[in-house]
Amino acid sequence: MAMKQKAVLLICTGGTISMIQDPKTGVLHPADIEQFKAYIPELFEYNIHIDMLPFTPLIDSSDVNPETWSKLAHIIYDNYTEYDGFVILHGTDTMAYSASALSFMLDNLSKPVVFTGSQLPMGVLRGDAKENLITAIEIAVAQDSNGKAIVPEVCIFFEDKLLRGNRTTKKDAERFEAFRSYNYPPLAIAGVHIKYNTSVIRYPQPDLPLRLRTRINRHVVILKLFPGISQQTVEAILNIPHLKAVVLETFGAGNAPSDEWLYETLQSAYNRGIIIVSKTQCSKGSVEMGRYQTSINLLKAGVISGYDITTEALTTKMMYLLGEEGDNIDTVRDLLRTSLCGEMSVEDN
Ligand code: ASP
Repeated sequence: MAMKQKAVLLICTGGTISMIQDPKTGVLHPADIEQFKAYIPELFEYNIHIDMLPFTPLIDSSDVNPETWSKLAHIIYDNYTEYDGFVILHGTDTMAYSASALSFMLDNLSKPVVFTGSQLPMGVLRGDAKENLITAIEIAVAQDSNGKAIVPEVCIFFEDKLLRGNRTTKKDAERFEAFRSYNYPPLAIAGVHIKYNTSVIRYPQPDLPLRLRTRINRHVVILKLFPGISQQTVEAILNIPHLKAVVLETFGAGNAPSDEWLYETLQSAYNRGIIIVSKTQCSKGSVEMGRYQTSINLLKAGVISGYDITTEALTTKMMYLLGEEGDNIDTVRDLLRTSLCGEMSVEDN
């Protein structure tokens, strides 16, 4: 019996990977499917059907916003039954935000959505675009012997690692290994073979249909503490009109200066219904509320622990929960304490 040809939808949003460098002039210009075919003929010779959907115009990922996330989620939802997996070509700068947002917006996902990008464009002699794209496509169609996707998650493939999207941070502006997941192991490593770490991959409950949840509330802010931060600064931020939630970047295991004014300002924000979540400024490790007196004060002021979540995942999770749950502040608080799709390790501390 002939094997059914697998199909991938390749969505090009922009970024370096969507560009081709003219080898003669060195000029970068957006790539179309014919140019991809010319640079990576081997990709189109596999038994994989690839359809390409480019954004017009292609965008630098600094211009990606919640409307872009919603557009991507809708494209995947509308084409869900037609393809075995989806590959999203995206600039690296804000890729971790987009992958995090999509992980929340695509509830009950059972097919791979693989983000990838590159530090150098197609067409350069020594680059990373071709390898990243080819492996991302291979992962997007990888299935077990029952025809089920091996990685039914929103993930990022870069250099040689497949990482959970909402655990990932861009950590290097130069090296080919641009991304890191500090608090969660890679879902796969690509060497001679692609080795999947199935014990850390998240599998959805069977038979639940994909649910699209794309409402977003933008009234969130990131407040990074530093020694000497002034009362005026904190008060100005916490009194931004219509503010709903704050990512509070704290020191070490979730600590903050012990100034009385700080706790009074946080408490007053809490009393006005503003949600504040503590996230450590360290890349690796978790907030442990109550380990030091300085974090007990935060707890008393109503601050919630973000455990080991990334800033990218916490910011997009807040925007998504406030958008979807509306004014139901207690539900939003409860869900911020819960891991929705593997974005944090919740521990009793
Ligand atoms: N500025 C580009 C972007 O994020 C960089 C890249 O693609 O790596 O769109």
